[in-house]
Amino acid sequence: MITADGWLDWAARAPGPLDKCYTAVNRGIGYVPHSAVGFYGGWASRLFSGERRADGRYTAYAAASVHGWVAYDGSVTQHYPLSASCWASGSEYPNTNFIAFENEGGFDPEDELLTPAQVQANARIIRELAAWRGWPEIRRPHDDGDTAARLYEHHECVRWGSAPTACPSRRIPWDSILAALGEGTSPAPAPQPAPGRTVIVHLETGVDAVMDIDEYAQGVLPYEMGSGWPVEALKAQAVAAKSYALAAGAVFSDTRSQVYGPLRYPDTDAAVEAVRGVYLAKEGQIVMPFYFGHCNGRTRSPAQAGWNAASNRPYLKGVECACGNTAYFGHGIGMCQRGAQTMALQGSSFDEILRHFYTGIEILGLDSGSGPILTPANATVYVVVEGDTLLSIAVRFGLDWGAIYTPNRHLISDPNVLPVGCQLVIPRPATEEGQPDVYVVQPGDTLFALSRRWGCGVDDIAAANGLGSETLIRVGQRLRKP
Ligand SMILES: [Zn+2]
Ligand SMILES: [Zn+2]
Repeated sequence: MITADGWLDWAARAPGPLDKCYTAVNRGIGYVPHSAVGFYGGWASRLFSGERRADGRYTAYAAASVHGWVAYDGSVTQHYPLSASCWASGSEYPNTNFIAFENEGGFDPEDELLTPAQVQANARIIRELAAWRGWPEIRRPHDDGDTAARLYEHHECVRWGSAPTACPSRRIPWDSILAALGEGTSPAPAPQPAPGRTVIVHLETGVDAVMDIDEYAQGVLPYEMGSGWPVEALKAQAVAAKSYALAAGAVFSDTRSQVYGPLRYPDTDAAVEAVRGVYLAKEGQIVMPFYFGHCNGRTRSPAQAGWNAASNRPYLKGVECACGNTAYFGHGIGMCQRGAQTMALQGSSFDEILRHFYTGIEILGLDSGSGPILTPANATVYVVVEGDTLLSIAVRFGLDWGAIYTPNRHLISDPNVLPVGCQLVIPRPATEEGQPDVYVVQPGDTLFALSRRWGCGVDDIAAANGLGSETLIRVGQRLRKP
């Protein structure tokens, strides 16, 4: 489906620079698939490049934009809303009237045909565009002068003044795309979503790296919080850092965004691992949180910190903080890192910390759309493998498939197609007392921390589980609560 503001609700989003568009609204009367002549990294480097000529305009290399990207596996990343007029097709008429997507590949050989998954993805884009803009029919041009068709290749845009080009180099199997459109099965065949979320990181070397969000977070935590902090504070920091980057889409690797570097530590890595798939959100959309060193006993809203009132957000309010400092270190908006440390030392979990500092925040990956809040104590994580279906996973865990679908809806665009590698939160059925009696050990857990959380002694846990004098526990181990 296409949202009211022009985004494919099933595609990943990596918004491109806004000044790489015409200001005119795109009329969306047709579709032009391009050949990327390469892979995503190369394309993203151009799209996000700020390289300019002496006269201040973008260089030919940097002057590139397109609505989105169709990867070999059929996953789609959208850079601009479909109402935007990108620079893809070389002259103003097609650029302000047609929607354009790059198709991965075509580097060697140039005429490499789209993969079946790319065919399906292009067909899905065309089908949804046609419904969105109310095209009466979908067809290719009859001849070189036909300007009333809906589907053109880039080189065919010479009829509107575009420069001659080989693009898309005979890569588009129109018969297959039109056949896929003709099938028009309902629901539309879903391309496989990318297994993870990615962020574009402008590295100091000048290279723009497309990075897995968890890999990125592991390079941020050592700098933005540091090894040796309490586990729950590190987990809260990881969730905040990931949400910040995903809300931004592209980030600098220094203090302009968040510091990213080569240091890695076992405890910061484990904290990131423990909150995989968990993000901060409002109404289901990942939002940009802020955080800072410490406050003076109370955090503040953007307006209270002297920022433009337009930067106020309902989740960025001033709240009490137990960090024990008397002056601000940092802007004071959002999560006080020393306050997070204090709360963690006093036994708060990372989600309690986040809910304290971000008023009314939703925690994607923990909160379900309805029903009980899923915390690590009453849920487990399952990684989807080839061949899994919601039903097969439900049977394995002894649950109704809806019980798995509901808390993971934000990860699943089509309940019939589970993205391989996707991490599903699986609720564990409560016992008769309404409390889960078995706990699966998470990264960062210790017997001591669990005894604090459960309000019992280390010895009680050891006795209930026959641990003897063994106090080391391992991730994934199942412990009976005493
Ligand atoms: Zn092209
Ligand atoms: Zn504080």
